Amino acid sequence: ADSSNDLYATWVKKTVIEVTANSDTLPYNGEVQKVEGFKEVTGGYVVTGLTAVAEGKDFGNYDTEITGTARVTKDGVDVTDKVIVNKINGTLTISKREVTLTSQTDSKDYDGTPLTRPEVTITGGFVKDEVKEEVAQLKAEGKDIALAVIQVGADPASSVYVRNKKRACEYVGIESVSYELPEETTQEELMAIVDKCNKDPKINGILVQLPLPKHLDEDEVLLAIDPKKDVDGFHPVSVGNMVIGEKGFLPCTPAGVIQLLKRSGVEIDGKECVVVGRSNIVGKPVALLCLQKNATVTIAHSKTKNLKEVCQRADVLIAAVGRAKMINSDYVKEGAVVLDVGINRDENHKLCGDVDYEDVKDLVSYITPVPGGVGPMTIAMLLENTYKAYQQREEHKNGI
Ligand code: NAP
Repeated sequence: ADSSNDLYATWVKKTVIEVTANSDTLPYNGEVQKVEGFKEVTGGYVVTGLTAVAEGKDFGNYDTEITGTARVTKDGVDVTDKVIVNKINGTLTISKREVTLTSQTDSKDYDGTPLTRPEVTITGGFVKDEVKEEVAQLKAEGKDIALAVIQVGADPASSVYVRNKKRACEYVGIESVSYELPEETTQEELMAIVDKCNKDPKINGILVQLPLPKHLDEDEVLLAIDPKKDVDGFHPVSVGNMVIGEKGFLPCTPAGVIQLLKRSGVEIDGKECVVVGRSNIVGKPVALLCLQKNATVTIAHSKTKNLKEVCQRADVLIAAVGRAKMINSDYVKEGAVVLDVGINRDENHKLCGDVDYEDVKDLVSYITPVPGGVGPMTIAMLLENTYKAYQQREEHKNGI
C-alpha cells in the first residue's frame, strides 16, 4: 500500500446519513424532500431513494430531479461543509472533502428495502497531512526536524513497525536518523548511542523500538532518554506528567485512541469506558486518558472475573489484549463504540485485532478496523510528538 495512505485513520460506523434538498431546487412546489437511502459509488455517495412529499402528496422517487445544493446531516449534525455536494448525471453526488469516518448505513431505500450495507468512506483526521504542512512551513524557513530511530536485532514485527515509522517520517518531511544495531549490541553500546542522540542538537526525538533483546535492560535505556526528546512517552517523567495531567509527551497508541474519538465526534464525558488490558504502553495510559476526559473507567485484565459482563457495560470498549478475535458479540453492548488496539495473526496468518470484527460489526455504532484503525493513528501521533518536541525546544531557546 502507498505509505501515504497508511496514516489515514479510519472508522467504520453504522449510521444513517440524511440528505435534504432545498425545496426551490426541485421542479415542483415540494415542501419536504426526504432522502431515505443512499449508496456508495466510486468517490462519493449517490442518493438513490428520495421520497419527496409535496402538498401532502407522495411524489415518489425523484432522485434524478434535484438540482443545486443540499444540506447534509449525519446523526443530526449538519456536515454540509464537510462534504462537497453536486449534481452529476442527474444524480446527487456527495464527494469527500475530509477524512473522518468510514461509515456504514443501515438506512432503507425509498420503498423501504434495506440497503445492502454500503460502506462509505467519509474521510477525516488528516493528522499526518497536518504535520506535513507544519513541517513544510519550517523547511521553507530553512529549518529541519529529525527523529532518531533505534532498533536492536531484527525481530520481524519490529522491523515492520520501524519501516512504517521511517516511511511516515519521510512522507511528512521529518528526517529519520536510523540506528540498526546487531542483536549482540551491549547495554553500554546502546546507552552510548542514546547519549549521543540526547546531545545531538540535530535530533529532536528519540525512539527506541521495543521490545529489546532479553539481555538488555529496557528500563535503564528508557530512563536514559532525555525527557525533552521522549517522543514515545515512555520515560517516567512523561508518564508522571500524564498521570497528573500536565502537558508532556503522551504515549502514541493511547493518544491515537483519544484522537480517533475526538476527531470522530464521539463524546466520552460521563460514559462507561472499559479497557481490556493493563500494560504500561497501552492499557494503563489509555485508561488514564479516558479518565481525564471524564469517562467512568474500568480496567479489566486476565484476572478479571465475569469479563463478558464487565465489557457489556461499556459505551466505549477499548481492547488491548493481544489475543486474536477474543472480543466477540458476547462482550459488546449494542451501539457501543469499539476501539481495537490489538495486532495479531489469525488462524490463516492474516493480520487481525483483538476484536472479532465480523461478529460485532452489526452491533456497534463505531469500530476501528485492523489493520487501518488505531495502528496508523499511533504513527501519526509519533510524528506529532516529534513536531511538538521541535517546537518546545524552540520555545525554550527563545525563553517562551
Ligand atoms: P501486553 O503487554 O501483553 O498486555 C496484554 C494485557 O491483556 C495484559 O494486561 C493482560 O492481563 C491482558 N490479558 C491477556 N489475556 C487476557 C484475557 N484472556 N482476558 C483479559 N485480559 C487479558 O500487550 P500490549 O503491549 O498492551 O499490547 C496489546 C495488543 O495491542 C497486542 O496485540 C499488541 O500487538 C497491540 N499493540 C498495538 C499497537 C498499535 O499501534 N496499534 C501498539 C501497541 C500494542 P495481565 O496484566 O493480567 O496479564
